[in-house]
Amino acid sequence: MARRSVRLVLALLGVLFAGTGLRAGDLEVHFLDVGHGDCCVIRTPQGKTILVDCGLSLMGWKVRRYLERQGIRRIELLVVTHPHPDHHGGARGVVDAFDVRELVEPGIPSSSRSFTNLIRRLGERKVRHTIARRGAVFTADDVVLEVLAPPDPLLTRGVRSPANANSLVIRLRSGEFRVLLAGDIEAETEAFLLRAEEDLRADILKIPHHGVSTSSTPAFLDAVRPRYAFIPCAFYAEPSRELHDRLHRRGITWFRADANGTVVFRLAGETLTVTAEHGRENSRLKVAPDWFKLLQQTRAVPKKAVGRIQQHVRTKVVALSQVLRQKAAGSWKEDLRRKAVKVGSTLRQKAGQIAERWREAVRSRLPRRTSSENTRA
Ligand SMILES: [Zn+2]
Repeated sequence: MARRSVRLVLALLGVLFAGTGLRAGDLEVHFLDVGHGDCCVIRTPQGKTILVDCGLSLMGWKVRRYLERQGIRRIELLVVTHPHPDHHGGARGVVDAFDVRELVEPGIPSSSRSFTNLIRRLGERKVRHTIARRGAVFTADDVVLEVLAPPDPLLTRGVRSPANANSLVIRLRSGEFRVLLAGDIEAETEAFLLRAEEDLRADILKIPHHGVSTSSTPAFLDAVRPRYAFIPCAFYAEPSRELHDRLHRRGITWFRADANGTVVFRLAGETLTVTAEHGRENSRLKVAPDWFKLLQQTRAVPKKAVGRIQQHVRTKVVALSQVLRQKAAGSWKEDLRRKAVKVGSTLRQKAGQIAERWREAVRSRLPRRTSSENTRA
């Protein structure tokens, strides 16, 4: 792809779920904004659909609506990279609404009830169930999906989270064009891939594990050398500063779900175009206030309290998402407005309280000389 002419188009679509207006006959890779979670829709030039992950269950309605608006009825492959709710949660609704032909997952032992229910539901619907490990290959028209990880047997050594470490890592290939979908892998799986694969190069990298600093190691990024990266993150769990620096230093153009919304890559012949729902590329936008970090650094406020405030904000965000879900069901407008106002005022109140406590903490730590000068003034 290095020699190919690559044109970047950033379109302000303006409407949250606007259709992408893409021409038939191109290879399309859609990274959906599902908040904290992954969802990637692949459409082959001949019109077949592959879905990799489906976000949290409360975002399932968005995935379904997106697929419907694309005119999709049948899904050849539903890939669940690992049994965590931010990857399989929305799958239940997809399975009920669309003609899913085959489920592909890594077969990691899981006690998650929602995942077990999903597998049972797929069984009832007679959907083919395939456990895939390194070496498996799936094809849809001329698009090839290669499974690069996890190996068989699964990775266990020095692994922090067995489910994350053994996420399915999929390389999409179409001619020379490559996309690497890296699930939630962390440094140990990246090291495994560096040992196992001679050539990890890809044009687009789906950044692993929502952009945390324990993934996307410099050696891994050097081996993949992507032109573009997509970071699937929500504003309340934003990617690490280290990741931005690593991408910036390597000249990799990145998009973030929280800043850019849904991002669509389209390969038409030799030309790759990018369409982002909103915002600009390479955003370092910080929506989550840095207060949390500042608070953690001040001795006046215990870490536990910071954790509780963060938890509270997250709960409110989830509640707001649930309200948005009701958009699909009947008379939602008035209810939505009232709830949004309520959540907004609570957040403002909490932010005010945090700011006040932080000001107090800073004041109490000022050197005595300064405070006496202040008193005189
Ligand atoms: Zn995840």
